This record gives sequence, C-alpha cells and structure tokens, in this order.
Amino acid sequence: MSNIKVLKFGGTSVGKPSSMHMVAKIVTETPGPKIVVLSALSGTTNSLVKIGEDLTAGKHADASAEIESLYTHYLQFQDKLVQKDVSKAKAQYVINEHFTFMRSLLKVPFNDNFTKELLAQGELMSTKLFSIYLEEAGFRNAILPALEFMAIDENDEPNMDFIIDNLGTQLRKHPEEELFITQGYICLNADQKIDNLKRGGSDYTASLVGAACYAELVQIWTDIDGMHNNDPRVVSNTRPVAELSFDEASELAYFGAKILHPSSILPAKQYNIPVQLKNTMEPEAYGTMISSQEKNKTIKAIAAKDGITAIKIKSTRMLLAYGFLSRVFDVFEKFKTPIDMITTSEVAVSLTIDNDARLTEILDALEAFGSVTVDPNQSIICMVGNDVVREKGIVKKIFDSLEDIPIRMISYGGSKYNISVLTETQYKKKALIALNKGLFGL
Ligand code: ASP
Ligand code: MG
Repeated sequence: MSNIKVLKFGGTSVGKPSSMHMVAKIVTETPGPKIVVLSALSGTTNSLVKIGEDLTAGKHADASAEIESLYTHYLQFQDKLVQKDVSKAKAQYVINEHFTFMRSLLKVPFNDNFTKELLAQGELMSTKLFSIYLEEAGFRNAILPALEFMAIDENDEPNMDFIIDNLGTQLRKHPEEELFITQGYICLNADQKIDNLKRGGSDYTASLVGAACYAELVQIWTDIDGMHNNDPRVVSNTRPVAELSFDEASELAYFGAKILHPSSILPAKQYNIPVQLKNTMEPEAYGTMISSQEKNKTIKAIAAKDGITAIKIKSTRMLLAYGFLSRVFDVFEKFKTPIDMITTSEVAVSLTIDNDARLTEILDALEAFGSVTVDPNQSIICMVGNDVVREKGIVKKIFDSLEDIPIRMISYGGSKYNISVLTETQYKKKALIALNKGLFGL
C-alpha cells in the first residue's frame, strides 16, 4: 500500500467558482500525496450529450446555440474563479481551445467517435481550470492526463494492467509533486479512441485509480454527507450510515442509492482500498466509510430502484421438469437483459428486469414456455445489512412495517446482506416511510 490518497469531486462540488474554491481548500488541507479526480462542472455533461444528439440529428443551429450558451457559462465561471489577469488569460485560453474544437464539429460529418470526444470536453476543462486556480492560490500541482493511463478493453471492462503501468509512468514524471489532478469519466477504448466509463463514471475512475496505485484511501466528495439509511429524496428524516462493508455498499449502489456509481465498489473491494463518502459542503461530517470490515448484524440502509418490470411465466410443464429455468434464462441472455430478482413456485417463475428495451422480443420468446404476464411500473425495495438473513426478528419487523403495502415478490436468502421486496411504484413512498419507522424508529 502506498500513502497516496485519491479524492474525487463530483459535478456539483466543482459547479460554482465558490465550490471549486472549497474543493481547493479541502484538497490542500489534506496531508500527504494525493490524486484529485474531477467530474465536469455540473450540467456540462448533460449539455454535451444534447449537443451530440443535435449534431447526430443534423440540428446544427440547435447544437450551435447550446455550444454558445455553454461557452458564456464557462467565461463567467472563470471570471469568478480566478483573480489575476495572467490566470484569467490562461483560463480563457483553455476555454477557447476546447470551444474551438466543439465549434469545429459543426462543420464536419458527425460520427460516434466525435460524440465520445465531445463528451470528454467537460472533464478536460474542469481539471485545467482547477489547476490554474490552484496555481494562482500558490499550490504546485500537476495534471495526470487520464487519456494516458485510463483504458477499457474490448468488453468495456477496465484494463487494469495498462492502468497500473501507465499511471505509474505518469506519476514518475513528477517526482517532486504531491498534488495531482486527473479527469474522471474519460478513458481510451480498445481501439485507442477516446471513450468514457458511462454516466456518473468519475466515481469508477476514482476507485480504479485508487486500486492502481494501492492508495490508502479513496474519498468520494459529493453534496450529501454519506450514504443514508433511506432514500433522502423520498423520506424526510434519514441519517448517514457511518460504516458499510463493500458488499453492503454495492447492493445499495446497485439498488438505487444514487450517491455512488455501482461499479466503483468492485476495484476497491478487490484491492482492499477503503472508500469514504464525504460532503464538500460539510467537510467535518464523517460521511460513510466503506471497507472490508463487516460490522453490526442489523439492517443499515434501504434503497429503492424504480422502473422495474416483473414478468411471470406460468407453465404446467415446469412441474417436476429440469432444465426449465435454464431455458427461461437463455431468453434473457439472448436479449442481453439482466435479471434482478427471481422467485419460483412449482408451476411458475417470476422475475424482474430494469431494462425493457427488448421486452417485446423477450415476451415473444417466453410465450413458448407457457402463459406470460407482465407488471410494469414496479419498484424494488432493497434492505441491506451484514448477515441480516440470519438475524432473528428482522423479517417480522419488515413485514409488520409493510402490512398495508401490496407486495408482488420477496427475495430473501439470495445473499446474506440483502432482503428485497417488489411493489408497485405508487406504493414506494409509503413503504419507505413505514420501513424508516419500523426498522430505524425514524
Ligand atoms: N461528468 C460525467 C457525468 O456527468 C461523469 C461524472 O460526473 O461522474 O456523467
Ligand atoms: Mg456522480
């Protein structure tokens, strides 16, 4: 393990000049060597996505208008970010360089490679602007270009050997530096073209960087004081959870806790790098520490995932037959649609998917096995904690709390960390509030 820390700041943490100043304060007050991973300023990636869509659709006037309004935003941003004329000149130079590239896209036949390059502009600009501000404030720093070390393979999976080797090479170029800045989200793909780690991917960058340099800690700084015991967008009285294990955190991230990109736990777990979630606006708050330690056999948090479709396949042929489930699963594999929850009875199986892009084809294929029913607009409510399935009394508490909620499916015992129920999304809020009271007394 090295003594490097990785600190990642999301879009809202760098979205205003005053917030970026705050980030600089947090970073420069953190002792020891560190790599700062930045997202694009908030709103930028959405705007770049829109420009890309407009260009793809041939709507050049719309794309141009969006580019110019983003340009104005950046000019105003830098004006408040830095004070000295020399810093303003540097910042304007950077902004002009990137917007010249974006404007040039209005004049060429647009394609997918350009889209990816366009999407990379946000992180490229935020890191350079941050570096200029740090320099003005008197802090030495070096940018580590993510496009020199962050790479994915032909399956869009991180190319860990490449990342480790090339991040090392980049770090060794600056033996005298302690403060490094790099771009979240962007990477090279197997064709050596600019690509990205999908929306929200800066968290993933941070944990990959942390794993690649055996960091002592990865901190994900955002606008909330850690992972909460329940969805703060739906339930008013929630509280941060101080400690979570990697497994608990990945269940929560996957099942809807928006604070963390679900894939980002994996490298941290594999390389055993603790991940701390922190609040930029409230740096003293402890936040949430995610590590290999499994503490407290109790439910620690609830997350909910909407947009779930439940599918039931009923067939008398399932009775005493083997191979039935495997044939059902083959259908989902064929249409590349992951299954989230599954329950079976002797003559029927119910399962859920969160992506219904290929639903019609899936249903057509499933008709061959029996009668198929579909329930859209469902939510998975996932309750997570270490060893919860072995703890006495938890199930009773859950179902007492949910006595007024119609439940479509239950998943219990699949892992020792998770108990999930499926209900119509219209009941989600009521269910989360009832569980908040029943399980946490809140
Ligand atoms: N800027 C990218 C996005 O908005 C990546 C990130 O912020 O994590 O999705
Ligand atoms: Mg994010």
